[in-house]
Amino acid sequence: MYPKIIHYVLNHSTLAMITVLAGGTGSIKLIRGLASQFSDITVVSNVADNIWLYGLYICPDIDTVIYGLADILDLRQGWGIKNDSFECLRQMKMLGEQTWFKIGDKDLAMHLLRTNMLRSGKRLSYITERMRDKYAVSSRIIPVTDDPVETKVLTDRGEMHIQEFWVKHRAQPPVVNIRYEGAERARINPKVSQAIRQSKLIVIAPANPISSIGPILAIRGFKKALVAEREKIVAVSPLIGNSAISGPAVKYMEAVRLNSSPFGVAKHYSEFVTKFVISKNDGDSSRRIVRLGMEVFETDILMKTSDDENRLATYLLTQMKAA
Ligand code: GDP
Repeated sequence: MYPKIIHYVLNHSTLAMITVLAGGTGSIKLIRGLASQFSDITVVSNVADNIWLYGLYICPDIDTVIYGLADILDLRQGWGIKNDSFECLRQMKMLGEQTWFKIGDKDLAMHLLRTNMLRSGKRLSYITERMRDKYAVSSRIIPVTDDPVETKVLTDRGEMHIQEFWVKHRAQPPVVNIRYEGAERARINPKVSQAIRQSKLIVIAPANPISSIGPILAIRGFKKALVAEREKIVAVSPLIGNSAISGPAVKYMEAVRLNSSPFGVAKHYSEFVTKFVISKNDGDSSRRIVRLGMEVFETDILMKTSDDENRLATYLLTQMKAA
């Protein structure tokens, strides 16, 4: 306990608030590392993979971050609550319902409460605040917008919600294009704009650049807000070499004709990111990224254990303080 307090005081004296732009499974690893050593963290969550199912509003990225920080996340899957059971889902199947989206019994409580609060007129950001409080999470978690935004994947079988593509169809159909429905009409949550302005450091988590960070960037005015703060923005590559560590990032990047490499991610972010962290095995792409106007940092960016999460977070905090 004692060393942790020292750590916090040291960091706090030089870095005020840290804002992290985040999706789900990749993002939470770095967020956990950062939160283990720094208290003043604001997570800006993607909302575009939220979905209505069985009359319930499900927010996979927000929930992954809450469960991850509450230390109840099923780390093997990267979503849901560890040691959960699936009795309700089994019963739904018996009653003839589709059960391609897995909802555990404990997880169900989140969706029931959230949907109830939505129906009584509460905003998603208010509900998220209540839920992180109930789960005793100290970092702030703010949905980027309270307005509906949905990622739609255009495939050779037609257009579908991103959860349908990824979970129901297991990312099998060839992808033609991806769009963010509602993004131009959505308003940035004012607390998010404030966090971006006031943070000393903004971290773009190692997240899917198209399905997690893409919808955040697509919201009107968001990129402009980042460009104004570009000197304090660092991104961590979600790719090592030409491969994603998990998930369909490569497939999505190819669909929007983006080079599926750390360089491709850097290029995608080059308007507003000035520092880019890549795997030390990708040193050969460093010079090309520098030519985009970024400072490049090379380290081990694979996080398999909590020690890895802490190591990468410490590296980031130390390097960014020095930069
Ligand atoms: P999603 O919403 O569940 O897809 O989660 P994210 O967008 O937050 O995370 C998915 C991305 O994180 C993928 O592109 C992965 O390659 C990347 N990722 C997963 N684990 C790691 C890791 O340990 N290190 C890094 N650098 N990236 C990771």
